[in-house]
Amino acid sequence: MIISVASGKGGTGKTTIAVSLALSLNNNVQFLDCDVEEPNAHIFLKPKITCTQSVNVLVPQVDEEKCTHCGKCAKVCSYNAIAVLKEKVLFFPELCHNCGGCSLLCPEKAIKEVPRQKGIVEEGEANSINFLHGKLTVGEAVSPPLIRAVKKVAHKNQTTIIDVPPGTSCPVIEAVKGSDFCILVTEPTPFGLNDLILAVEALRKLKIPFGVVINRADLGDKKVEEYCDEEKISILMQIPMDKEIAIAYSNGIPLVERKPEYKEKFRELYKEIEKQF
Ligand code: SF4
Ligand code: SF4
Repeated sequence: MIISVASGKGGTGKTTIAVSLALSLNNNVQFLDCDVEEPNAHIFLKPKITCTQSVNVLVPQVDEEKCTHCGKCAKVCSYNAIAVLKEKVLFFPELCHNCGGCSLLCPEKAIKEVPRQKGIVEEGEANSINFLHGKLTVGEAVSPPLIRAVKKVAHKNQTTIIDVPPGTSCPVIEAVKGSDFCILVTEPTPFGLNDLILAVEALRKLKIPFGVVINRADLGDKKVEEYCDEEKISILMQIPMDKEIAIAYSNGIPLVERKPEYKEKFRELYKEIEKQF
């Protein structure tokens, strides 16, 4: 079973929930931190890294000797990663989506594709959990290829928990794609509700079953609960605001280590998800 843990916005406690769920389950669990722009699950799981791989993508390289500055490559690039000046072609690799369109369509065959490091994938072990995360190279803006690389290295026959980047954009879609179930973590505030609604819309389009965990549930209002009720979305767990949990988090201590009684609650949550299959 693949369970992704997502959140329409950052700072809701998504990683806390993902890490706690992984630590509460028995053997044969793997954890994928696909929040490759800011991976932080390793701070809590403290894996011993045993393998590091570089992830490269192909980007265009223009041969100015052959180039006639016709401008076709800039025209075909939907991401504005190429600009053609009178006597020079400018390339912005951090904007490139590695589609290969420009090299394919260059009439002078002046563009060849060369490898560029997108980031790294590290694999290791933490408390008998198989751990994987991606780290995007500083300055890179396009993370889906690295997320795909993390998922490609993952083992196929393990219960898999995926920590998804926050938001509802392309990296989120890439990370949740293929999940059997998605846990949406939110908080009971107007911002939390707004971003939850967006995340729900995205998951419904992807046809991935989901449920909600409300973190810091006793702060804010009841609008998230009312929304879930109206939309028939199951609320899988509510975690109250707890200063001890917050202090433990800031010290890199997982919720279920600081409060072991939560392990049973996370196992119940997992059983609840299993029942849906
Ligand atoms: S399409 Fe080829 S020839 Fe035309 S500007 Fe781009 S690199 Fe130069
Ligand atoms: S490979 Fe695709 S995204 Fe990158 S510069 Fe060429 S056309 Fe643009």
